[in-house]
Amino acid sequence: MDAKSLIQQVKEDRVKFVSLQFTDVFGTVKSVDLPVSKLPEALDQGIMFDGSSVQGFARIQESDMHLRPDLDTYTILPWSPEDMRRSRIICDVELPNGEPYKGDPRGVLKRMCAELDQKGMIYNVGPEPEFFLFKVNGEKAHPVPFDTGRYFDFSADDTAVRIRTKLILALNEIGLDVEVGHHECGLGQHEIDFRFADALKTADNILMMKYTVKAIAAQEGIIASFMPKPVMGEAGSGMHCHQSIFSKNGENLFYDSNDEMLLSDFAHKFIAGQLKHAKGLTGLVAPCVNSYKRLVPGYEAPVYIGWAQTNRSALIRIPTSGRKANGVRVELRCPDPSCNPYLAIAAMLACGLDGISKNMPLEAPMNNINVFELSRRQRREMGIEELPGSLKEALLALESDSLFRSVLGDDLFDSYIRGKWSDWDEYRTSVSDWEVDHYLSVI
Ligand code: GLU
Ligand code: MG
Ligand code: MG
Repeated sequence: MDAKSLIQQVKEDRVKFVSLQFTDVFGTVKSVDLPVSKLPEALDQGIMFDGSSVQGFARIQESDMHLRPDLDTYTILPWSPEDMRRSRIICDVELPNGEPYKGDPRGVLKRMCAELDQKGMIYNVGPEPEFFLFKVNGEKAHPVPFDTGRYFDFSADDTAVRIRTKLILALNEIGLDVEVGHHECGLGQHEIDFRFADALKTADNILMMKYTVKAIAAQEGIIASFMPKPVMGEAGSGMHCHQSIFSKNGENLFYDSNDEMLLSDFAHKFIAGQLKHAKGLTGLVAPCVNSYKRLVPGYEAPVYIGWAQTNRSALIRIPTSGRKANGVRVELRCPDPSCNPYLAIAAMLACGLDGISKNMPLEAPMNNINVFELSRRQRREMGIEELPGSLKEALLALESDSLFRSVLGDDLFDSYIRGKWSDWDEYRTSVSDWEVDHYLSVI
């Protein structure tokens, strides 16, 4: 879309405000609001902001930054009231001289996709974000499930179903092409999947999906949470990502009709790359202290590093595709929805491409093995490694694998690591209810 047609569109949509958005290093959405009368000027000149006040952005002495709206990302925010109709446009972050700012997370993914595009390829990602709906219970947020449904439950008169339907309608309205919505395993847990798209569009969609779900739930007086493991003993919320690489003429490069699992050699190497870098990758795709309470046995979240056709305990699964060439894909199961989708998806791609460029051999699949039933010793003998068990382990792995620094660039990598270590230090020095219950009166 060009500036002229955007201004026309905004008029037709009776939009009153435009939110120009980008994210900080952790994926938090930043937004500056313009009355529509100021849009033409912003499109012409961009918008200045103080980068030194944004997590992970410029140092104080070089704080002037510039937002350049990416016009194709224009969409209405469907929950905004008609008399204050609001739309949003995602922006690229630039230096005052017009050069792309290297510390912009979206810029990192955009650059990687552009490099792939030059080679005639497109990286497609289809995410499966899960979330909980909680009741508002007093002033502090408590994880009290909003409904009592379980996996795929149907209820003819269920408020949660009504809200989920409202969410799906809103997401469709903003162009997300929702494929399915259903109740998940946990009490109050839901999933809404939308159709795969190229990596950049998908990352934009994930952010949009998260805040749309939160905004609409809030209008209903409930809390939607994408926290990876909000309730002990219940399933956690993951964001499995289905991935494939297509050639620009629409051929799925992961497909080979001669292979038993219909996977090409190219796909094998991609998987090998993601397995090789899995430990460090987890530090970006499962980025919170709480993420590691999800990655435990017993809840269909991955714990061990391996791949398989149907085994849901595996880190990478190859879903049955109905033997359709375009449906052949590789599902990575460790990501959760608390990640910065731009950095997470850029890192996923970099791992796969590393496998391809280095011709990495792929180990045998764990098809008939229930890894959860093996002892620690058996796993060691079979060479089955575990994902990091805590944010600390993940950060150590992330720091010791040079691939990730090269993907993110020094500034972004350092500020990500710094922020995450500070979370870890705060967490490990806090005293939990578990400790008080176990030790206070006993010791
Ligand atoms: N909730 C599970 C997870 O944390 C996934 C369940 C599923 O297979 O959809 O990854
Ligand atoms: Mg699910
Ligand atoms: Mg899945």
